[in-house]
Amino acid sequence: MALSQTLPPENLKDSATLREVHHEGRSLVLVVEDEESYQDALTVGLTVEGFSVVSARTLAEARDQMQRVTPDVILLDVMLPDGSGIDFCREIHDKWHTPVIIVSALDSEVNVVLGLEIGASDYVTKPYRLRELVARMRAVLRRPVVVEDEPDVVTFGDLRMDFARHTVTRNGADIELSRKEFELLSLFASRLGQVVTREVCLDTLWWGLQLSDTRTLDTHVKRLRQKIELDPANPVHLITVRGVGFRLDV
Ligand code: CA
Repeated sequence: MALSQTLPPENLKDSATLREVHHEGRSLVLVVEDEESYQDALTVGLTVEGFSVVSARTLAEARDQMQRVTPDVILLDVMLPDGSGIDFCREIHDKWHTPVIIVSALDSEVNVVLGLEIGASDYVTKPYRLRELVARMRAVLRRPVVVEDEPDVVTFGDLRMDFARHTVTRNGADIELSRKEFELLSLFASRLGQVVTREVCLDTLWWGLQLSDTRTLDTHVKRLRQKIELDPANPVHLITVRGVGFRLDV
């Protein structure tokens, strides 16, 4: 946190390095929220969860904060006193590339948000459980960041995964994944070539499921293989590491 605050905001080219630095310590989150009860609860809850928190109650304050600090992730309310979080999300996406989780009061807003493709990384609907929010934040923070001029794309084999567009393609042809399948593959892709333990999978995607109950995870891995592997019985990308977890290979 201290490191990011000493850097001028225009020093964005270093943001990938910066975020890795944060991963060793506390990730910095900017909470843009005008309801005091949410703001207070989030500040306390997220601090307990190991995040550093800066806050803004209006878009004007949020813009000020973006001049002062370089957050790793932004929690963004939609209805704010001086404007719409949706417009600010576009602004963030264009200027700073910081991952944004939209916090919306209404399901109908979420549909609007998703339909607009404003560059949000994820969303949660109020009222939410802190545990769910933190799991989403950690998932967003684990995604690969700023790779040359295609920040949201990772490739393995002839597969191409685009986090911003939420698509996976093979030689340009779309592979249709469910939301959970996409999230699971995102988790693996964010650690290409490294083992992701079953525990981390369950923690990230199925908070609340016991480690002993891993059928859901196995079912999703099996379905993913059927979709991304040319020969699902002999996978070359999504590898089982016996007794530990899984690894996505290039
Ligand atoms: Ca609000």
